[in-house]
Amino acid sequence: MTYNKEHKADRIGWIRAVVLGANDGIVSTSSLIVGVAASNVASQNLFIVGLAALVAGALSMAAGEYVSVSSQSDIELAELSIEKDHLANNWELEIQELAAIYEKRGLQTELSLIVATKLMESDALGSHARDELGITDLSQSNPLQAAWVSALSFSTGAIIPLISIMIFSMTNLIPAVVIISLLALVLLGCLSAWLGGTPKKLASIRILFWGSIAMFSSIFVGHWFNIAS
Ligand SMILES: [Zn+2]
Repeated sequence: MTYNKEHKADRIGWIRAVVLGANDGIVSTSSLIVGVAASNVASQNLFIVGLAALVAGALSMAAGEYVSVSSQSDIELAELSIEKDHLANNWELEIQELAAIYEKRGLQTELSLIVATKLMESDALGSHARDELGITDLSQSNPLQAAWVSALSFSTGAIIPLISIMIFSMTNLIPAVVIISLLALVLLGCLSAWLGGTPKKLASIRILFWGSIAMFSSIFVGHWFNIAS
C-alpha cells in the first residue's frame, strides 16, 4: 500500500540526486577549467583537463552514490529483519507499541489500539517500518541505478564547460565559461525548483552564489600559479 506522501518523498530524493549531480558537474568542471586557464596553459591541455575532470567526477559520484545507497539499504534491511523477528515473537506487544505511537500523535487510547490492530492485520511489517523505524519505502532503492543516475547527471553538467573550450578561443575562454556555467546553474536551479514545487528565485540565487564562489576562487588560484609569469 502506498500514500501520496511517500510518492512525493520519492520524487524529492530523485530530484535531489539529479540536481546534485548536474550541479557538481557544472561547478567542479568549470572551476577546474577556468582555474587552469587562468594559469595560461595551451587550449588542448585544457580540454584534456576538462575531460579528465568529467570522467573522474562522474565515476567518483557513481562510487559515492553506490556506497551510500548500499549502506543505507543494508541498515534498513537489518532493521526490518529485527522488526520481522519482533512481530513473529511478540505480536501483542507490537500492537501496544504501534498503538502507543498513535496515541503520542494525538489519538485516544481506545482509537489508537483499534488503528494499530487494523494496521497490523493488513500490513504489520509495513506499518512498523513506517511508524516505528521511519522507513517509508520498502521496495529498497537500487544502488546501481543510483550510481548511473549520478554519473549521468554529473556528465551532463560537466559537458557544458567542456563544449565551451571547443567553441571559444583562449582569449575569452574564462569569461565565456563563467557566464555559460552560471547561466546553466540558474536554469538548473529553476528546473529543480519547478520539479519540487519550491520558489525559483531562491533556488537560483543559492545555486548562483555557491557556483560563483567556486569559480572565482579557482580563477584566483590559477592566476596565482600563472605558469607564463
Ligand atoms: Zn515494532
